[in-house]
Amino acid sequence: MDIDIVSVFPEYFDVLKLSLLGKAQDNGLVRIAAHNLRDWTHDVHHSVDDTPVGGGAGMVMKPEVWGECLDELLGVKPGGEGSDDVAGATADANDTVLIFPNPSAPLFTQRDAAELSHAGRLVFGCGRYEGYDARIPEYYRARGVDVREYSIGDYVLNGGEVAVSVMLEAITRLLPGFMGNPESIVEESYTGGNALLEYHQYTKPALWRTVAVPDILLGGDHGKVYRFRRDEALERTSAIRPDLIQALDCKQLDKADRKTLMALGWDVSQAHPRRAA
Ligand code: SAM
Repeated sequence: MDIDIVSVFPEYFDVLKLSLLGKAQDNGLVRIAAHNLRDWTHDVHHSVDDTPVGGGAGMVMKPEVWGECLDELLGVKPGGEGSDDVAGATADANDTVLIFPNPSAPLFTQRDAAELSHAGRLVFGCGRYEGYDARIPEYYRARGVDVREYSIGDYVLNGGEVAVSVMLEAITRLLPGFMGNPESIVEESYTGGNALLEYHQYTKPALWRTVAVPDILLGGDHGKVYRFRRDEALERTSAIRPDLIQALDCKQLDKADRKTLMALGWDVSQAHPRRAA
């Protein structure tokens, strides 16, 4: 997978050379290039922002500089003023997704990460200040580029760099060959069709200070261990993320799942669980 990141702080992404993502780059599984947006400016101050049209506090990232940068990275021929010419989009744009982190966009989820792990190329644009001019995503969408805007949570960061790092890590760890043991990404929180939060994990020793690992995990009965973990996942999800329980497809629940959910106060007689009256 090819990844380009545009930021006014490209050095922020030096940390991506660490750990599994560093190894994936060494192995050629992922190529990451961080670009400085200011390299596409022409004025002596290398300015990338201007005051908001219509008034208000702060500064907004200028479309011209982003336009020159993204035209080059995406291979899109610039359309003229008022132009709706879509012929400029590159042939390989089908395989490319342009992503802008934005706190006022839909939430980035594991499902998005899984979908984006199939893209050939990702181009991330990091916003700063009050954000980027809204015409930038609009313009590239109109030119046939697959443009996404995502929030990573209901809070506001100073810039898109942290958000890009979060998305990038969630996406790349799903690439075949990325994890040493591919099994480790199969049974995780938010993963799969009927996604739940994961059960609690323990390692040795069986007794640490005053706290013991649940006995059932030590008994070696795989069926019982599965049921114990599954029930714990259902209980934790019901308590912490009831919205995920409400999204479950009841047809995919087994008899024991239904019994556990009913004991937790859910009605599982319809297509999706709902709180029992
Ligand atoms: N004025 C914007 C608002 O109120 O929605 C906030 C702009 S924020 C200070 C600057 C940049 O940080 C954004 O353009 C975006 O790239 C990034 N950012 C901040 N919070 C984010 C979040 N929760 N998710 C994704 N990106 C975020």
